[in-house]
Amino acid sequence: MPSSPDLHTHSTASDGTLAPADLVARACAAGVETLALTDHDTVVGLAAAAVAAAEAGITLVPGAELSVTWGGRTIHVVGLHLNPGCAELGLGLERIRAFRAWRAEEIGRRLDRHGIPETYAGARALAGDGLVGRTHFARVLVRRGLAQNERDVFKHFLVQGKPGHVPGDWATLEEALGWIRAAGGQAVIAHPARYSLTRTKLRRLLGEFRDLGGAGIEVVCGSHSKDDALVFARHARETGLLASAGSDYHGPESPWLDLGRLPPLPTGCVPIWADWPPVGMSATGPMTAPGTPVPGLSPPLLAQGDQATHGAVL
Ligand code: AMP
Ligand code: MN
Ligand code: MN
Ligand code: MN
Repeated sequence: MPSSPDLHTHSTASDGTLAPADLVARACAAGVETLALTDHDTVVGLAAAAVAAAEAGITLVPGAELSVTWGGRTIHVVGLHLNPGCAELGLGLERIRAFRAWRAEEIGRRLDRHGIPETYAGARALAGDGLVGRTHFARVLVRRGLAQNERDVFKHFLVQGKPGHVPGDWATLEEALGWIRAAGGQAVIAHPARYSLTRTKLRRLLGEFRDLGGAGIEVVCGSHSKDDALVFARHARETGLLASAGSDYHGPESPWLDLGRLPPLPTGCVPIWADWPPVGMSATGPMTAPGTPVPGLSPPLLAQGDQATHGAVL
């Protein structure tokens, strides 16, 4: 039996370790028929992933995972079925990446002051052409023997209260949802169990998210336990949001869930893919830029780009 769609993965365009085409090939080999590439704050890997998906005969959902600051904390919002050529989305992501670039240098300066030199250069080199994230710093510190694994680096150096922590100054929730909607996409709250929100704050977040046009929340994901999935299935039902599923795969070295191993959604959930076209039915791809069709990309569900600002409702 084919596994669920995997609607949350990363490539070397952000902090994954597989190039987009290699990620697609591995997903296909693992039996994944519908895969979303959702790199942090960039759509740059989508074109290569789309070509690979067309060759492999699987459906690529073009996506991105947007960094958001909400109530003083960082929240991740996955956009699915994005038109990667949408100018409004492009400008928004560019702004987030500008902060990300400054933050990376600032992390380096702070670790430097803490007596750990030249981590920025190391992280920058590891990231290659991709953007620099905290994961790259974590990998550098593990390689230098300063921690046993990436998780420990986060715990001791990169989270709030630790020497390399830099507070987020990302997009607002309203901005992120505006850009995703402008790009014809569906917005999904990523890994909601990871934010350690009180019940009151969680309800406020989900309510605001829904009122801004958000479509769904990740119920099943690589960092959710079985109990988390049940809890968020109930939240989805109560808030009137659809249920999404994604591994948050970052590469074969990462301890998160492997590709093709997603458990099914709990019963009673309405899957976000319930009214998507059946696999293999995506004859017309969206545009990477006006006039440039990309084979293998599934079509966005709503009007594309600027059209979506004229009355598309999520
Ligand atoms: P950034 O967007 O650069 O702040 O980095 C966020 C990314 O760091 C996440 O997408 C994960 O890949 C990784 N990450 C966050 N927390 C942890 C953790 N505790 N252990 C390992 N990786 C983590
Ligand atoms: Mn990541
Ligand atoms: Mn995330
Ligand atoms: Mn992710």
